[in-house]
Amino acid sequence: MQEQSIARPHAETKEQVLEALASGNEGLSPDEAARRLDQYGENRLRESQRPSPLRRFLRQFNNVLIYVLLAAGVITVLLGHWLDAAVIFSVVVINALIGFIQEGRAERAMDSIRKLLVTRVRVIRQGESREIDAAELVPGDVVLLESGDRIPADLRILKARGLRADESSLTGESVPVDKGSDSVEGDAVLADRSSMLWSGTLVASGQVRAVVVATGENTELGRIRQATEDVESISTPLLKKIDQFGHQLTVVILTLAALVFILGVFWRDMAAAEMFLAAVSLAVAAIPEGLPAIITITLAMGVQIMARRQAIVRRLPAVETLGSVTVICSDKTGTLTRNEMTVRALATLGGEYPVSGSGYTAEGRLERPGEDDQALDKLLLGGCLCNEAGLERTEEGTRISGDPMEAALLVLAEKAQLDRSHCKREWPRTDAIPFESERRYMATLNHDHHGKGLILVKGAPELLLERCGQALAADGSRQALDVRDWQARQDAFAERGQRTLALAMKSVASDMTTLDESDIDEELILLGLIALEDPPRDEAIQAVADCHRAGIRVKMITGDHLGTALAIGRQLGIGDGQSGMNGKDFQSLDDDAVAEAAMNTDVFARFSPDDKLRLVRGLRSREQVTAMTGDGVNDAPALRSADVGVAMGQKGTAAAREASEIVLADDNFATIATAVRTGRAIFDNIRKSLLFILPTNGGQSLLILAAVMLGMVLPVTPVQVLWVNMVTAVTLALALAFEPAEARIMERPPRPPGEPVLTPMIVWRVVFVSGLILAATLWVFNWHMSTGLGLEAARTAAVNTVVACEIFYLYNCRQLHESIFRKGGLLGNPWVPAAIGLVILLQAAFTFLPPMQVLFGTQALPWQSWALILAVSLPILFIVEAEKIIMRWRLSQAAECKAA
Ligand code: ATP
Repeated sequence: MQEQSIARPHAETKEQVLEALASGNEGLSPDEAARRLDQYGENRLRESQRPSPLRRFLRQFNNVLIYVLLAAGVITVLLGHWLDAAVIFSVVVINALIGFIQEGRAERAMDSIRKLLVTRVRVIRQGESREIDAAELVPGDVVLLESGDRIPADLRILKARGLRADESSLTGESVPVDKGSDSVEGDAVLADRSSMLWSGTLVASGQVRAVVVATGENTELGRIRQATEDVESISTPLLKKIDQFGHQLTVVILTLAALVFILGVFWRDMAAAEMFLAAVSLAVAAIPEGLPAIITITLAMGVQIMARRQAIVRRLPAVETLGSVTVICSDKTGTLTRNEMTVRALATLGGEYPVSGSGYTAEGRLERPGEDDQALDKLLLGGCLCNEAGLERTEEGTRISGDPMEAALLVLAEKAQLDRSHCKREWPRTDAIPFESERRYMATLNHDHHGKGLILVKGAPELLLERCGQALAADGSRQALDVRDWQARQDAFAERGQRTLALAMKSVASDMTTLDESDIDEELILLGLIALEDPPRDEAIQAVADCHRAGIRVKMITGDHLGTALAIGRQLGIGDGQSGMNGKDFQSLDDDAVAEAAMNTDVFARFSPDDKLRLVRGLRSREQVTAMTGDGVNDAPALRSADVGVAMGQKGTAAAREASEIVLADDNFATIATAVRTGRAIFDNIRKSLLFILPTNGGQSLLILAAVMLGMVLPVTPVQVLWVNMVTAVTLALALAFEPAEARIMERPPRPPGEPVLTPMIVWRVVFVSGLILAATLWVFNWHMSTGLGLEAARTAAVNTVVACEIFYLYNCRQLHESIFRKGGLLGNPWVPAAIGLVILLQAAFTFLPPMQVLFGTQALPWQSWALILAVSLPILFIVEAEKIIMRWRLSQAAECKAA
């Protein structure tokens, strides 16, 4: 990348900077931008240095369980069992390799998710505003930003309104700083260069037009290298818990191994060398070597599945929290509804005018009877001028940009045969106050060519009604405002689920050139109301019902009018359709009452970001696990305080995305429900892997313990145990990572937060199945010893028994509680038969291939052995299913008792 230099842009005037960059208010031409992109490279920071592959490989050995294995290997060497030692050491290396590869896969999965979070930015090129990927910005580009946007490069401000930037990520200063276009002293320090905006910081409020002075590595951020909007790498409380579990297990294993040695030597009078070997076998048997890799891969796979379903997980712990969510607080517009607005009717003093057609197509008409209505004409004009949206009709279809509601007003103008560009030429805009959720209105100042000045305001009706003294009549006269009547008209629209906008105007002096909020405090003249329809998303209706069945409450939080919110709530099945709460009433409540309202009310209207924050706190104080959606910069605190913050990928700001755990690529409520479902499934699959792997370790450890207690020879050798743990168990368990969600996963209540991974039920089943594997293996081993087939054959048969038990038990593990003898129970996951097929091949090699026989001390087995192995292992399938029946019965009894 080439060095970009413009010495002190903060000290130069904006004209000088534009000149130095060979740019202008119209921005660059697309060709020039492309040329500069070639010259300077993409606007990205070089990937931060990852540890080298060798280091990542070596890191795999830094694990207590591996230390135990290494120690076991050393002891085996000391005992002179060279071959065994070689196998142990190779297993350690293979284990590290598997960990290394899986970690790489998981990292790549997370990388691909990071790529989904590209930042889009609005630039002016050749006078046209367009959205591009921030990576394509070049020095000289003119960009437009507003509150909540992340600053995509180092910028010199050209024009700003109410601009404040949050530069905490760069300077550590947590209070947003004021910014403006005036140049500052040449030697001002970074934090004092108020005419500049720095890459990686945020627009806290206001709007700005600025020119790019440095991109990529040449920005201040590039110099100090800091992580920005990022996806965390693989680590979750669950992984930490499992790690902890590993440590505890090690202590238990070492104690047991020592006990075996002591008991064997002093109680059973066995040779010390042989007891060493037994102790080593025990240690090797009990360590679930493959577990970390399995869990990591299950998580990574799950996160990828979620991304495919449009939910991008930024922080992995959210995957676990999702399964515990008890309340989802969702925005209305665009999340629960389609955000496809259509104007349905207009109301002026003169009457009501229905509008036909739907969506953004030009089909449909504004029904206006013969007589002239000047208020209607002005209302249409206002909708056109007090508007930032774009509507482009090409052969491929209609493209809208900006606020969908404003785009609907442009469609309305078309239906009324009003030419927007003509209006804009007739009434050029001098200044504007853009729409902000907190303000709930937008205003413009326009002048015609005869020197007349006109302020146009559009916004929430109750807000405008307060500021209007009069209304415009059809004949152009002004009449005193009948607030009650207008409110009743608004209520009538709201009752139908329509949202309403009011439009007002004010004539001003011709020399007025700037617009202030104080200019629209009073003396406005009401033009009329516009009613818009934004129907609920079909899939959201289904998703709300799914959530209710899954024991999750859904609450709607909106900036819209309460009446409209209640009507939409009725259509969606949120709340009782009658009761809701307005932001104003909510603000007057104390903390206790807030918690009470949070629990009992489902529809909240005219809510501000602060109200959202109090609502989340109220819910949390009542032990609710809350997911909260948001999009604006001011939603960030509420998103952060929620257990799962959910940001909108399309209409959300960078600030909201960074504050949240999950980003919805499609802004759709149904995606939250899908994420909850997938989160539950991932957690289930991790539990299933544990449930599957641990009994293998348990069974083999018990086998060795039993042998020592009974003074028998060891039924399995350490290397054979390693084969089972590392090869067969891992191969089979991996199939569980692909297990689809259980059929009734959204019919159970949320998982209690803080519930351990190993619930008493799981611990019980691990012990129970370990016992079954012990019994089956011991039986087969003893039968072989008693029939005189020899120790090697007996051990080979014992190992094959353990593996056969694993194969049948794998089917049991596909469902935690439910029976597998039903539709989709035995089939349904093609990875299971594939993994089993592979393991059968591996076992055949283990038993019959001469090199393997040398390595593992195995021997070919006659058919009678196989028949016996099948006879003792198959019943496990049925016994565990019978256990599930009893468990289900006990659970339902307990539930009945509780209900009674
Ligand atoms: P949600 O919070 O569910 O997304 P919302 O889109 O209705 O709901 P806001 O965008 O905060 O919430 O809008 C609040 C109110 O401000 C709207 O009900 C409307 O009256 C008014 N409003 C919305 N957009 C505009 C706009 N572009 N110009 C003027 N007024 C607007």
